[in-house]
Amino acid sequence: MREADAKLNGARTAVTAAKEAHTQALTRRKKLELDVEQWKVRSKKYREQSSSVKTNEAYKALQHEIATAEAEASKAEDLVLEQMMTVEEVERRVKHVEADLREAEQAIAAEKKQMQVQYGEKKKKMEAATAEREVIAKKVPEELLTLYTRVDKRHPGWAMAEARDEQCRACGMRVLPHVLQMLKTETDEEVFRCEMCGRILYTLEPIPHAAPKETANGAANS
Ligand SMILES: [Zn+2]
Repeated sequence: MREADAKLNGARTAVTAAKEAHTQALTRRKKLELDVEQWKVRSKKYREQSSSVKTNEAYKALQHEIATAEAEASKAEDLVLEQMMTVEEVERRVKHVEADLREAEQAIAAEKKQMQVQYGEKKKKMEAATAEREVIAKKVPEELLTLYTRVDKRHPGWAMAEARDEQCRACGMRVLPHVLQMLKTETDEEVFRCEMCGRILYTLEPIPHAAPKETANGAANS
């Protein structure tokens, strides 16, 4: 669940960054608009002054100032237009990353729902298995159950190992032939453990039964 939430962080960061860029772009547009305003005010002021100058030189100087102010105003206007396009571009980006985030949120919500369903199913299975285990454990002699629990702590979920081909199939340690022989003996109640890993050994090889009645008329062992 935490991993799923973490997946959203990237999308959220992208939205925050885009919004921040948008704010900055707006601030810059505002500043450029003010520049235009200031150059226009200045040029207007020079025009007003030019009607009252006395000398030709002063008039020329003012005309020069007016031209400069107008050129600067025009330059600033171009920058405002450029900046307006930048603002639009950033606005598109904000919309884009916001859509991405919504999409990711929906996907994650679906993923989480799926996880909850799986969790519920697994929990049910675990409860059923635990109940089943309790029933089985009741039939196991207490001493053996204690041993099993101890070995299970060392090898969780794998306390028992098959002895086959003269080996512990869990760790590969050799199992002595006489131990194998004992495991295959129906009447033997002794518990053998692997000398290396300590797991409780068992065998799946057929244990020869004391001849039952069926063998006599050939119904079994066919
Ligand atoms: Zn072993």
